Amino acid sequence: MTRTTPNVSFEFFPTKTEAGHEKLLNTARQLAGYSPEFFSCTYGAGGSTRDRTLNTVLQLDSEIRIPTAPHLSCVGDSKAELRDLLIRYREAGITRIVALRGDLPSGMGISGGELRYANELVSFIREETGDHFHIEVAAYPEVHPQARNFEADLANFVRKIKAGANGAITQYFFNADSYFHFVDRACKLGADVPIIPGIMPITNYSSLARFSEACGAEIPRWIRKQLEAYADDVKSIQAFGQEIVTDMCERLLAGGAPALHFYTLNQAEPSLAIWNNLGFKS
Ligand code: FAD
Repeated sequence: MTRTTPNVSFEFFPTKTEAGHEKLLNTARQLAGYSPEFFSCTYGAGGSTRDRTLNTVLQLDSEIRIPTAPHLSCVGDSKAELRDLLIRYREAGITRIVALRGDLPSGMGISGGELRYANELVSFIREETGDHFHIEVAAYPEVHPQARNFEADLANFVRKIKAGANGAITQYFFNADSYFHFVDRACKLGADVPIIPGIMPITNYSSLARFSEACGAEIPRWIRKQLEAYADDVKSIQAFGQEIVTDMCERLLAGGAPALHFYTLNQAEPSLAIWNNLGFKS
């Protein structure tokens, strides 16, 4: 039996240097060969990457010719600044957007913007631009780190969908059951939209551990212990990481995940290794 190739998308971050930007473009060219549904590009909360995100999105969309979704976060940005970006994206023919609250860098405080939560940003985008944009929001199968509890976080997620979001991309996780549980509960509360699992390839244990701690993603003990045991053996970390993340993607797709969204960190190989392991044709 032939398996249908699922949709795939790839996320980048805008870089500070020309060399970094060239690398990003090369990565994007390589990944474009896999016919992704879309690329996305992150946004530094408070507008720290406003121009770089805008320029990167427009370049990926027009030169690499893959529809590219800017991330847009509301914390720290005024309505006028957000409106200006929405108009520029709409005029450039961008039709998809990832709407977030964002996290201000420590020290900037949390009071900057006029919109406090992502549901307010979704409403704002709808008020300003109607149905022009396909809007995705963030979902947290393992609970957002600042949420009171799972139920409160789920209710806030549903609020974003009711405000007009078309779908969601999850924070990464290494436990497929947390994803299935979240999707099931969201669906029962009426948030019956595509929820795309965010996939983080494992390439380096210490940075993964640090980042996971900050964003509330759990590295299960058996994975952590194995990665710790490999110490500086990068090859073994990557081989083990590829194996377990590929297995998880198999399970996610078999269980009905609508697509896969890879956090590339601007590198092609780690995501492609997993995608190729899955055995779909590009
Ligand atoms: P929200 O949905 O607003 O939720 C934030 C917290 O507030 C949660 O704990 C929620 O339960 C609670 N909450 C939500 N609404 C309400 C309400 N109305 N009343 C009370 N409490 C509420 N960050 C960036 O800075 N730039 C990026 O480009 C970026 N891209 C991301 C992409 C993806 C796919 C994901 C999963 C995350 C991304 N992030 C990015 C990180 C994200 O900005 C942080 O996780 C941030 O802390 C929360 O953003 P959110 O949009 O989920 O916020």
